[in-house]
Amino acid sequence: MDVAEAYDDSFGIEVILPEGGKTAPCCPHGPTLLFEKVSKGGEEGRRFYACSACRDRKDCSFFQWEDDKVSEARLLAREAENRSKRPPFSQQEYCTRFRKFASLSLDEKKFCQDCQLLLLPRERDAHSSHRCAAVTASQLRRPSVLLRPLDNKKSNAQYLFTDRSSHFLLDTLAGLGYTKVLCVGTPRLQELIKLRNLENKHEPMKSLLLDIDFRYAQFYSQDEFCHYNMFNHHFFGGEASSAVMQAFLRECDGEKVVMVADPPFGGLVKPLANSFSLISQTWRKLQSSESSNVDMPMMWIFPYFFEPRILECLSSFTMLDYQVDYDNHPLYKHGKTGRKQSPVRLFTNICPRDVVLPKDEGYRFCSVCQRYVWSLNKHCAKCNVCPSKDGREWKHCSTCEKCVKPSWKHCQTCGRCALPDHPCGQGKGKEGCFNCGSLQHKRKACPLKDTHRSRHRSNAKSGGKNLSQHPLYKPKAKRKSGAARRAKKMAAQAV
Ligand code: SAH
Ligand code: ZN
Ligand code: ZN
Ligand code: ZN
Ligand code: ZN
Repeated sequence: MDVAEAYDDSFGIEVILPEGGKTAPCCPHGPTLLFEKVSKGGEEGRRFYACSACRDRKDCSFFQWEDDKVSEARLLAREAENRSKRPPFSQQEYCTRFRKFASLSLDEKKFCQDCQLLLLPRERDAHSSHRCAAVTASQLRRPSVLLRPLDNKKSNAQYLFTDRSSHFLLDTLAGLGYTKVLCVGTPRLQELIKLRNLENKHEPMKSLLLDIDFRYAQFYSQDEFCHYNMFNHHFFGGEASSAVMQAFLRECDGEKVVMVADPPFGGLVKPLANSFSLISQTWRKLQSSESSNVDMPMMWIFPYFFEPRILECLSSFTMLDYQVDYDNHPLYKHGKTGRKQSPVRLFTNICPRDVVLPKDEGYRFCSVCQRYVWSLNKHCAKCNVCPSKDGREWKHCSTCEKCVKPSWKHCQTCGRCALPDHPCGQGKGKEGCFNCGSLQHKRKACPLKDTHRSRHRSNAKSGGKNLSQHPLYKPKAKRKSGAARRAKKMAAQAV
């Protein structure tokens, strides 16, 4: 999650969103993103293209200065590389395989754990030395349990919802009358929707999963899964695939569509917001003319400290108090039961008043704020809001004229509230450090970060917490030599 800040202006690297015209070069993850190093003085820095999805150069080594002349041979090599990274089967092949697999007898149904693949009988010999396991019909309906969660710390760690969170999401959406859920990076939600439909107890819902993890393609039909990159809005299956989403977004006979996205927390807010806006635009174009300025209902699941950044990009969104928690993340637990409160929240453009948070878990309705809040989030009469962001009870500072974290104290020198042991001194500018309140640095660079609430960050969802390991962020001197090294390497590779 901190990685995103690395690209923010505070660290001098900005994403320049594509504006049509110029096409970005492609890596195996689709069109790359254009980044710009911004120097303190504000003058334009040198721009370069890098992978949209991977923040570790070990996962995707693409790097190109914007003004680089790339040789024909290099382009061909790049294309070959991109081709070699494609899934072993096309979407259509996956579907045919799945139908065949489903018709096998129980003792013929095998899953190769090493290859993460449902095996057809004729393939079993080729996997005889691999770990293979039997698959029951009910396991087949729960791919998120069968598949090993990706644990690539930096780019694609998968954190799956607890039953508590996934049921809450689904109950809430169903309660609001949504009948179609576009699941962006939420395979477990899609799975739950399909399982529930089987129960025949509820109004059936449709779902479409958009995810970069193509292992999921083997469990779904072509109109249930698209291989998709949410950082550049890229459909790996081309137009046929984006047409699947388009068809899904069309609302017939009173159908109502909603999107739920749970991106990796290391993700960049700006490109994600851009992709979600493009989805909303596609949806809007399918609407009748009078709703030309309405936005598609969306929920974006992300840590609370990204609130300013998300609202900057999507001004119609609000952050809700609901704490989302994860099965395979021991530290991201709901406040009541877990050892630690989850920092993950829902950001949505659905009216907060309508999203009823469960009373038995400690949420209540604030009639002044007209939204449901966490029990410890007490309404402040002076600020006239329920101010807490992190789940703790905040307190009002009359000098700052706002509510602050309970651990903060007003500092005369800084003229604002901060942790008692914050690095003291004057700073100017906008918001201070999310962790200690200092104006001299951002949360990412906080020297006290390991002493407060972020102790286990290296385990957190994106994993890519350690900025020094970040491909695009290097401390000043090193960064230069890194770029120089890359340029040298590129030159050496160019044929
Ligand atoms: N909580 C969710 C899973 C979230 S983990 C659930 O239980 O369903 C993040 C998800 O986003 C994973 O499914 C991962 O495969 C997907 N993902 C990661 N990077 C992505 C990208 N660039 N584009 C699309 N999906 C991505
Ligand atoms: Zn195998
Ligand atoms: Zn207050
Ligand atoms: Zn204060
Ligand atoms: Zn700090």
